[in-house]
Amino acid sequence: MTWNPFLLVYQLIQYIIAKLLSPTPPSPHAKLSRPRIAVIGAGLTGVSSAAHCVGHGFDVVIFEAGGRDQLGGIWARVNNTSGLQIHSLMYRFHPQVQWSNGYPTRQQIIDAIEDVWKTYHLEDKTKFGVRVERVWQESDEKWFVNSEEYGKFDGIIAAVGTCGDPKMPHMRGQETFEVNSGPRSRIQTHQYVGGGASAVEALEYASAAKAEKTTILARSDKWIIPRNAIVDMLLAFNVFGQEIYISWIPEFLLRRFFYRDLEDLAPKKGLFMETPMVNSDVLDKIREGSAAWLRGDILSFDKTGIWFSQRSKGVPPGGPGREIHVDADIVVMATGFSRPSLKFLPEECFDEPYNPPNWYLQTFPPTHRTICANNCTYVNAIGTVGNYHIGIYTRILLMFLVDPLTRPRPGLMKLWINFTRFLKIRSPTPAFDFFTYTELMWWYVFCVAINPFRWKWALFVFFGIGDKLPLTVVEAEDKVREVIGMEEFNSMQNRKD
Ligand SMILES: Cc1cc2nc3c(=O)[nH]c(=O)nc-3n(C[C@H](O)[C@H](O)[C@H](O)COP(=O)(O)OP(=O)(O)OC[C@H]3O[C@@H](n4cnc5c(N)ncnc54)[C@H](O)[C@@H]3O)c2cc1C
Repeated sequence: MTWNPFLLVYQLIQYIIAKLLSPTPPSPHAKLSRPRIAVIGAGLTGVSSAAHCVGHGFDVVIFEAGGRDQLGGIWARVNNTSGLQIHSLMYRFHPQVQWSNGYPTRQQIIDAIEDVWKTYHLEDKTKFGVRVERVWQESDEKWFVNSEEYGKFDGIIAAVGTCGDPKMPHMRGQETFEVNSGPRSRIQTHQYVGGGASAVEALEYASAAKAEKTTILARSDKWIIPRNAIVDMLLAFNVFGQEIYISWIPEFLLRRFFYRDLEDLAPKKGLFMETPMVNSDVLDKIREGSAAWLRGDILSFDKTGIWFSQRSKGVPPGGPGREIHVDADIVVMATGFSRPSLKFLPEECFDEPYNPPNWYLQTFPPTHRTICANNCTYVNAIGTVGNYHIGIYTRILLMFLVDPLTRPRPGLMKLWINFTRFLKIRSPTPAFDFFTYTELMWWYVFCVAINPFRWKWALFVFFGIGDKLPLTVVEAEDKVREVIGMEEFNSMQNRKD
């Protein structure tokens, strides 16, 4: 193995973060206190959120629809050739995670999730094979999940992700296509239907299968950005979370230095409107002739391939094009995943115009501040799913649960949503349909700064440290409320069984 000074520094930093910021795991059979949280989903978000809760002494139950082999969520279901597209620096989903390289494989990601799960003794707290169909609240504001069997919960973390079942649209003549099942050397052409992240995954799969030629058939243009940590972080730095008057600069630089001779593939629409694909290989493969990218619409399949209407740049889907036949030995449907349903949440969470993603901090429905839909309401973003914010969202929920004075009122939650809509009034996309990671950080800072009762929690919310002091203050406030006869608002009231 070659010695790499950058990797050494990276590992050292991760080691220090793990030592400083990982909450201490409880002992295996420790009796944890209230609030008690129901976590729905045992992917990376659910496991990380649950680990944060128990690490701060609060009890959880994780409900996972799949079996034990589904621990890790989507990563447990994708091909072995899949891996992280962004740098692992932006995929530190729990402070304990210590990556050994920049771009971990699927197996390394699953191992990291499993490691957090075991370290925080979540085995006994995970119910596999339980699909959550319904959560409801009783008059005491406690939650039940599916039935009364699991007891009462104070808060709900919905961590169902955005990738449910694979989308498999049926296309005309699909059944007539014959897969070339000859020896591997004869399997020369792979065809990919789709042009999003799953097409990247399929490209990696084709590469591993040593396909001679791959063609991506994409219905719409999507920005591709390089697999480079600095570039990706700089792009996520746009605090406005939308196209702004200087967006042409990164767009120009990408066209000039990344797309270069393939500028025609760069979309006309702005970079800050839709989640870009992170990949550095695809353009190189097109240049060297081992891959092709065709924009257009699939007309039908036949025995040997696909009839395709190839469109020029700027012509919308369904518009006029040149009809061509694309020969294929194998067709891979990289058409993405359908979004897992949140219909188990109470009806009123979906009332217009405050339906997801138009929630407080995009995550808390204004009608129910004790629900945190962590990482499952976003539509498009330049940022990362598996990072630091999972802990921040979880700790904001914990703050709301243990400290009554920090809880936002529904009216104020709606006001924040409308304020953010106003700030993004000139955005070409609806306010919450696209955001950047820096914008997310601004939301958190605003959330803590706007309410003086939340200030004492700042270190806890942002770094997971210092929960003893705010808790002592909250207990003192409880005593004051008892003296003045307002004990129904006490935090301890909420912490009884
Ligand atoms: C090939 C591939 C590459 C990717 N690369 C990146 C990348 O580079 N960077 C990045 O940020 N993201 C990437 N992603 C996105 C990825 O989805 C997230 O990074 C992350 O893994 C999502 O984790 P999650 O826990 O939120 O959701 P999931 O992993 O989808 O887990 C959700 C879990 O909830 C369970 N569930 C759903 N509904 C219910 C219910 N009603 N009751 C009980 N359980 C339920 C599901 O069974 C599942 O196990 C990639 C995704 C794929 C497929």
